[in-house]
Amino acid sequence: MKIRTMSGPLPHPRYQRCSECDYLFTLPALRRTQTAHCPRCNSKVEKGKVCSLPRLIVIAISILVLMPFAYTEPLISIRLLGTRINASLFEGIWQMSSQGSPLTASMVAFCTVGAPLTLACSILYLHFGSKLGMNLKPVLLMLDRLKDWVMLDIYLIGMGVACIKVKEYADIDTGPALVAYIMMTLLVTLTLINLNIEQLWDEFYPQRRPKGVPESLVLCLACKFTGHPDARGRCPRCHVPMPLRYKHSLQKTWAALISAMVLLIPANVLPISIIYANGQQLKDTIFSGVVSLATSGNVPIAAIVFIASVLVPFTKVIVLLTLLLSIHFKAHQGLKTRIRLLRLVTWIGRWSMLDLFVISLMMSLVNRDQLLAFTMGPAAFYFGSAVILTILAVEWLDSRLIWDAHATRHTEYTD
Ligand SMILES: [Zn+2]
Ligand SMILES: [Zn+2]
Repeated sequence: MKIRTMSGPLPHPRYQRCSECDYLFTLPALRRTQTAHCPRCNSKVEKGKVCSLPRLIVIAISILVLMPFAYTEPLISIRLLGTRINASLFEGIWQMSSQGSPLTASMVAFCTVGAPLTLACSILYLHFGSKLGMNLKPVLLMLDRLKDWVMLDIYLIGMGVACIKVKEYADIDTGPALVAYIMMTLLVTLTLINLNIEQLWDEFYPQRRPKGVPESLVLCLACKFTGHPDARGRCPRCHVPMPLRYKHSLQKTWAALISAMVLLIPANVLPISIIYANGQQLKDTIFSGVVSLATSGNVPIAAIVFIASVLVPFTKVIVLLTLLLSIHFKAHQGLKTRIRLLRLVTWIGRWSMLDLFVISLMMSLVNRDQLLAFTMGPAAFYFGSAVILTILAVEWLDSRLIWDAHATRHTEYTD
């Protein structure tokens, strides 16, 4: 299969529906580096940036080479009560799983190990699979969902926060794996920026121009192909069902959102971390942790933790709640503001995992049995689950429904 070069124009102008608001428009022939936005809701329709697959392969192989070193060797080490303690990413996950809860540990493991590893392997599969004529569709579908779960950059900031928290008790040194970890994070970020899944779909599975009336065209949300469903109602390109609107989208989103709201209560009331020092137990909730960071003079770090752990989850819940209610009551006031806010909180939503990464690192660093120990509180599990549920709620919400509710008020699309 031939891979086109970066700068050539796409084959021809085509009809395209917007994946956020379902607006139908003609997408002109673009250069590969050009971006395109929806004329109605301004969401990005064409990402533009593209790095050829062979170049991504080189990056993916480098990531895989760095991985064993970055994960198993010490990232930071401290001198605590006369002993040197090393913390590696694997060690943190192991401590969290053996002393805390295996479920919370597996959330951390998936975002820091599972997702980046799958990303690198998928790119290798796409390259070699296309040469061997293998089926690339499942991998392309999976890659589109995987992007949000790769959180190496957040773990890096988590390391910074953990260092500042540990500084009260011990001297900190950087470990040998830190450089490897930072390089791996940069390469993974580079891959995510340059990975254009829609263009890969067009390259590997080009489609004929659909015939018939443009208004009857339907968008496949899985591969972003605009065309007619086959006889079984599935997308002709990726074979995922392409209904006009997702089935049970509102029910699923409500279920995830209500569960997240319920879980946020114990997440904020119960202690998230417990420190044993000199035979005394010191419990911290999310909020008291932020306050103690701020009072010890680390205001910028306290602000980061506050935004990631308190502000973002609550804003996300409120925005989702008003969007769902606006669909039910067909309200249209401040629609654009709410959609912009939703895009913003979706974009920063993954940063909410920061606190869990800090806890995982602290557990492997501050662990001197009776004298000084750090462990996770019951809130950590509730908090992690709430964050994951809000990410799922956004994923399950078919945003086209918001515009449908809006359009029933304004019969013409003159927004
Ligand atoms: Zn749109
Ligand atoms: Zn499709």
